[in-house]
Formats: sequence, C-alpha cells, structure tokens
Amino acid sequence: MDVRAQYAPLLEELKDRIAEVLDSGRFILGPEVKAFEEESARFLGAAHAVGVANGTDAIVIVLDALGVGPGDEVICPSFTFYATAESIARRGARPVFADIDPATLNLDAADVSAKVTERTKAILPVHLFGRPLDVAVLPEGVPVVEDAAQSFGASMGDRRAGTLGAAATFSFYPTKNLFGLGDGGLVTTSDVDLADRIRLLRFHGSQDKQTFEAVGYNSRLDELQAAALRVFLPHVEEWNEARRTAAGRYAELGLGQVCELPADEPGHVYHLYVVRTAERERLTAALDQAGIGWATHYTVPLHLQPALAALGYAPGSLPETERAARETLALPLWPGISRGEQERVVECLRAASAEKAA
Ligand SMILES: *Cc1c(COP(=O)(O)O)cnc(C)c1O
Repeated sequence: MDVRAQYAPLLEELKDRIAEVLDSGRFILGPEVKAFEEESARFLGAAHAVGVANGTDAIVIVLDALGVGPGDEVICPSFTFYATAESIARRGARPVFADIDPATLNLDAADVSAKVTERTKAILPVHLFGRPLDVAVLPEGVPVVEDAAQSFGASMGDRRAGTLGAAATFSFYPTKNLFGLGDGGLVTTSDVDLADRIRLLRFHGSQDKQTFEAVGYNSRLDELQAAALRVFLPHVEEWNEARRTAAGRYAELGLGQVCELPADEPGHVYHLYVVRTAERERLTAALDQAGIGWATHYTVPLHLQPALAALGYAPGSLPETERAARETLALPLWPGISRGEQERVVECLRAASAEKAA
C-alpha cells in the first residue's frame, strides 16, 4: 500500500487545515476534536463518539468503563492483532480465546457460546481485515465491544460496524481505512452514560481539571490529528469503494484458480486483501522474485504468544486459528491500485502455481 499516494490529492487542503490549528494555538481537546467526534458519529450512525489517543487505549478504556477488571473474563479471537487481547490483560482480566470460522476468519459464534462462563464480562469480536461480523449471532446477555480498528465504514445490512454492539473501538493508525498522520482512536456507543464515563476516563477521571473522580488515563485525540481526520473522513466511502472494486478485479482476473479468495460480502471494506493457500512459501518466493509486496498477518496467533503463555493454551487448542495463521496471505490492495498492477500479481502467482503442476 502507498498511503502518500492516497492523500496526495488532498495535500493542499491538509496543509491549510494544519496551518489553521497552528494559528489557533490550541492542540488538545478543542473544536477540531469536537467537530470530528460529531462528524464521525453522524457518518457511522452512532449516538456518541469519543476521541482517544489510539485504538489500543480505546479498547482498554471501554473495558474499564464497563467495569472489566481482575477475575473477569473477556472472549476474543486469537487470530487478530495483539492489542485486542493485550487490552483485556491490561485491565487485569483474562482473555479467553474462541476459534474462528474458516470461511470468514472472524469469531466462530458456536465456540464463543461454548466458552461463556459466569465470569464472562464482555465479548470482544474483531471485524477482521475489513469484514464485518454479524454481532447478532453472538450469545445474548453479554455486552459486545466491537474491535472495529480495521473496519471504518464496513456495514452489516443497513448498519455500520461500530453501531452493532454496546460499544466499539476504532484506530486511525496510518495504515487503517480511515487514518490520521500519527496515532488516534475513537470509541462509539449508543449509551450516553457509557460515553460520559469514557470522556471522564480519557482525561484523568476529571470533568473540570480540579476534581478527580476516578483513576483514569491521559488518552486524548489531539487537534492536529482531528483536523487531518476531518479532511479524510469525506473520502473514506470512495476509498472503501475503490478497495471493493480492486477486490472484485482480483476475482475477475482469475486469481481464484491459484488460491482461495476471500468470500465477497456487500459490507466488506477490504482493509487487507487476504487469500488462503496451502502453498504459501512457494507463492511468496515467486512474489519476492517479481518484486511484488506481500505480508502475512498473525503468523503466531495470540494464544501462542510468549506474553500470554500463562493463560495455558497449547498448540492445537484452536485448530482453525492455527491453520489460518499458516495459510493466509495478504496481497497488494489499496484504493489507488491499478489494473496493471493487479494483473502482474495474478500472472506471477499463476506462473508459480503452473510451475509446480509441470
Ligand atoms: C490496529 C489495531 C488495533 C490497535 O490500534 P492502535 O491505534 O495501533 O493502538 C487494535 N485492534 C486491531 C484489530 C487492530 O488492527
């Protein structure tokens, strides 16, 4: 991906808006953050949006606001970025890993149900790689916090990811579908009390900087990031559409003859274009030789990470997660990718696959 190419057409507007923030002399929790919170809430169809410093803090703070702490369990996937489970552990709670559905790479609802106990305080699904998970299939009676870091603009029916559970978290790290020029994060919720609690916690547990009502965090979205995010937000829909078009083009070009393509879904926003293959090494060697970029995400799933070894998960305990960790491969896809670039990827992989057949 090339993030510079993505914002190049907006560079002048971006510079103007940054200059305005410099002129204002106001950098923390000012009018830009307030306006971005309102605009992103409107875009998502969420009642409340609260800007925070990054997507990891967003999860930690929501869990805190929901009262998750030591002795509690939170169910999440193991096939995701580390921050998902780290945030649970950061609260002193126990991440309980459920396996994934191989067709979607998202949480397997039946395995989630099997892992609910009286200690389960929340379920933390991830809309992985931009594919929305239908939160309605998860067991009832436990609050769902969506980790929507990879899915700004994704939708399930007529609702956006970020409005499907009790609360949701977003990251604006510079590779995400909506991104800032540094770190940034957002929490959305329809619950006004929860939103107020999150606003309190992001600023040291204080409303007025005089009285401190809770042990909180210093976790704020800043004015410069909010100004940049306000420039990008009106374009996220067209960027996501371009990602969807590019994903469709890979299918059209016959990539499905070489590897298993991600099942299409109208609300999928392809944060990453992730295929499956039992021959990952052969294909990545061919891509390397052709100078084509690729990536593998989560080659060591979270239940097998050293930092979480004390949780006691053995290899083989989450078979679909471990298989996905071995077989998935992210291929080049960003809003500005050209047909020619995609043709080169497909030709390269087709040749590598034919070589083996011969
Ligand atoms: C990026 C990401 C995060 C963390 O976001 P940061 O802003 O980098 O803290 C959390 N969960 C998932 C699934 C992510 O992809």
